[in-house]
Amino acid sequence: MAVYDPKSLKAEEFINDEEIRETLAYAEANKNNEELIDSILEKARPQKTEKGCVCSGLTHREASVLLACEIPEKIQKMYEIAEEIKLAFYGNRIVIFAPLYLSNYCVNGCVYCPYHLKNKHIPRKKLTQEEVKAEVIALQDMGHKRLAIEAGEDPVNNPIEYILDCINTIYSVHHKNGDIRRVNVNIAATTVENYRKLKEAGIGTYILFQETYHKESYLQLHPTGPKHDYDYHTEAMDRAMEGGIDDVGLGVLFGLEMYKYEFAGLIMHAEHLEAVHGVGPHTISVPRVKHADDIDPEAFDNSISDEIFEKIAACIRIAVPYTGMIISTRETEEVRSKMLKIGISQVSGGSRTSVGGYTEQERPHDTEQFDVSDQRTLDEVVAWLMENGHIPSFCTACYRAGRTGDRFMSLCKSGQILNCCHPNALMTLTEYLEDYASPRTKEIGYKMVEEELERIPNEKVKAIARQNIEDIKNSNRRDFRF
Ligand code: SAM
Repeated sequence: MAVYDPKSLKAEEFINDEEIRETLAYAEANKNNEELIDSILEKARPQKTEKGCVCSGLTHREASVLLACEIPEKIQKMYEIAEEIKLAFYGNRIVIFAPLYLSNYCVNGCVYCPYHLKNKHIPRKKLTQEEVKAEVIALQDMGHKRLAIEAGEDPVNNPIEYILDCINTIYSVHHKNGDIRRVNVNIAATTVENYRKLKEAGIGTYILFQETYHKESYLQLHPTGPKHDYDYHTEAMDRAMEGGIDDVGLGVLFGLEMYKYEFAGLIMHAEHLEAVHGVGPHTISVPRVKHADDIDPEAFDNSISDEIFEKIAACIRIAVPYTGMIISTRETEEVRSKMLKIGISQVSGGSRTSVGGYTEQERPHDTEQFDVSDQRTLDEVVAWLMENGHIPSFCTACYRAGRTGDRFMSLCKSGQILNCCHPNALMTLTEYLEDYASPRTKEIGYKMVEEELERIPNEKVKAIARQNIEDIKNSNRRDFRF
């Protein structure tokens, strides 16, 4: 039987079923242990030091106790600490991105995904390079600077060369004042050699959702195709890191399996990356199963309420304080609002989940991967964020300045975020306001930029940021960054 070892490179040892079961039993046994819960909460709280704020994070066992706890006052404390951590490391900035669907050809049999091989209802589509260009122009015209590219797994129709061509095309399009400055990639698990090619193509984060950490369920939910191989899928992030990609994004598709099991697995995966590579995941995504072409979310009986969903987000925020958290337009405005407060640092906006969707006047449904709950335009999302006190950020500076992996984490921990990320957010927001915003959004935005400039502690940085913002307003100069 496999023995738990966070340093192992074997899936069954670093995501160890027995360890997860023992963790869940420990959490259940201690869910009313107020003394223990208080000590875990105390450990999780950000501590102020001379060099800024530090947070110790939690082990999967400690975090699982918090998730199991049902005492209302303690849950309230968790939300408060999650918010405190969010503000300490991410401030009130929210990074904005959009997904770009390249191809829905897929040879897998994932039972929750409408792209599965046996689905004959949906037209199969793959963008040509001309179509990629047209989609990118449409995205730039909305104001996007960051994309997450998405594709089914199909070695014949979507080989790595196709993905690399698309990345090149995306980076080559400069329409008016627009450009895409960071391409994150969400494609199936692949080889070290292919990860190296993605790295060389200049990708940002490599994102791969585990879907479920529960091996038995995983095998049933992925009955056919290369994705059926649980170990190969689970060990993908280690190969990505071996290939030189040091920003990787984890995620679970909530609703497939018991959330407490998934949560423990997710935190163990983060601990494993830290133990082996010295750097945890760059982001964690929290998608929930949605209705799609031939997919009924009711068919998966582990769906979670909004309340539990929020508690999971708060516990992730507390357990892995330096990891960004992403929420997509799978969720409604209402849910996104609450999640932003307790830990989310990135949202998608104006998304279309269909292949070629951005160049269509009307939102097309025939090739959508899942229904989009938040159907507002990017301009509406930007205005809404600002009205709720968040700074929409289109910043891509870190990875372009080589601040990836542990260097990004050091920035996060150094307390320099207000002198670096904050002005970068304001300068990229100004680009958005100047080039793409509606008059109303522009008005709200410029008021926010003025107020937020005052919060930059370093006077020299403040003066440079102010000058750059004036340049953006009065010239075509763009892409300033610290
Ligand atoms: N084919 C790649 C893979 O298998 O990892 C790329 C990812 S796929 C385009 C993006 C993600 O969408 C999947 O990892 C899955 O978690 C999510 N997804 C699939 N079907 C979904 C559904 N019905 N509702 C919500 N999310 C879904």
